[in-house]
Amino acid sequence: MPDKSFLHWPFFEDRHRAVAAGIESWCAANLPVDECDLDGACRDLVRRLGHDGWLKHTAPDHEAAAPLDVRTLCLIRETLARHDALVDFAFAMQGLGAGPISLFGKAEQRQWLARTRSGEAIAAFALTEAQSGSDVANIATCARRDGDGYVLDGEKTWISNAGIADLYVVFARTGEAPGAKGISAFIVPGDAEGLSVAERLDVISPHPLARIVFDGLRVPASAMIGAPGEGFKIAMATLDVFRATVAAAALGFGRRALDETLQRARTRRMFDGALADLQLVQGAIAEMALDIDAAALLVYRAAWTKDSGAARVTREAAMAKLFATERAQRVVDKAVQLHGGDGVRRGHIVERLYRDIRALRIYEGASEVQKVIIARQMLAGG
Ligand SMILES: Cc1cc2nc3c(=O)[nH]c(=O)nc-3n(C[C@H](O)[C@H](O)[C@H](O)COP(=O)(O)OP(=O)(O)OC[C@H]3O[C@@H](n4cnc5c(N)ncnc54)[C@H](O)[C@@H]3O)c2cc1C
Repeated sequence: MPDKSFLHWPFFEDRHRAVAAGIESWCAANLPVDECDLDGACRDLVRRLGHDGWLKHTAPDHEAAAPLDVRTLCLIRETLARHDALVDFAFAMQGLGAGPISLFGKAEQRQWLARTRSGEAIAAFALTEAQSGSDVANIATCARRDGDGYVLDGEKTWISNAGIADLYVVFARTGEAPGAKGISAFIVPGDAEGLSVAERLDVISPHPLARIVFDGLRVPASAMIGAPGEGFKIAMATLDVFRATVAAAALGFGRRALDETLQRARTRRMFDGALADLQLVQGAIAEMALDIDAAALLVYRAAWTKDSGAARVTREAAMAKLFATERAQRVVDKAVQLHGGDGVRRGHIVERLYRDIRALRIYEGASEVQKVIIARQMLAGG
């Protein structure tokens, strides 16, 4: 039985506890899914999450004046990740992919949100390039002004949902200034002429991922999100909001690893007793529980701070992501160790968690990048 005591922390209201209970029931009724056809499974998960109302939490409803609630996003991601990495991915990308539109889109652009919230449209966030992952300001994909629109040429790689997305938010160089100040954000429909998938990328915790090419892809000027040159700011502000939710997913993986370990420690017989009787094992369990509670405090501190009206939560989100992902990796590693041979057996839940957690320490800003962000915030006075 997963620990739910944190739901009574002062960060949460009754509506959050209701969401946590609701998504738990949804997982029990809908998971696991057959993931042999990865693209098909993702499409199906997005459709079901949309149909059952969960995706409405991934973007604000501006007409109903319902803002994004980061605590709700984190609770959902934590719960989904505790059950299955792919369903968490399917949920998360709807938020991140549509994030620039949610936060900076004009009224007519926000029409996309009705479709990402219902699960009718799959979203992707296309920032990374082969030569500019951590060094985001260095992107080379260009958007050249041409008459009443822009023409995009270049490549993006490591793009989640590439190939199945109906909507890409693409960051491209428009050249108002060198570096970070010369980048703009564009909405590109998945079926746009000049957009193609060049290479599918197979990773240790599979999800739809690819390198994509823009070859003379034309978009109208109205596809630009925000103003020319604001793309870097838009990307960073979007990551600021969604970074805490990556930490929440890591927390979910960690919680599952602890639950599996507790079950194993209680039932595995050895040395005339149970695994749980051994004090070194108790020490490992104590460290796992401590890592999880400390991570949860940082995750929900960041989410609560944002929900309480903070314009930016750069420091809080970076701390949550750094700590939760690194410690979840440690927790999962201990779980593998305490499962003995079964822990490395392909298909075992802790073996899966060991693969699922790894990329979270790299994407949306590697751990080293989070340290730089935190240090800069501290040196700047807060
Ligand atoms: C599974 C997965 C999904 C992804 N999905 C998306 C997506 O949907 N959209 C998208 O745009 N991108 C996506 N990415 C890309 C991801 O954001 C980049 O991989 C990440 O930013 C790191 O960039 P890089 O791979 O080029 O590594 P590099 O930038 O080459 O960095 C390599 C390593 O260098 C170290 N490092 C980096 N900066 C510093 C520093 N300042 N100080 C010290 N060390 C440092 C870190 O250890 C880092 O891991 C995804 C990546 C993965 C693995």
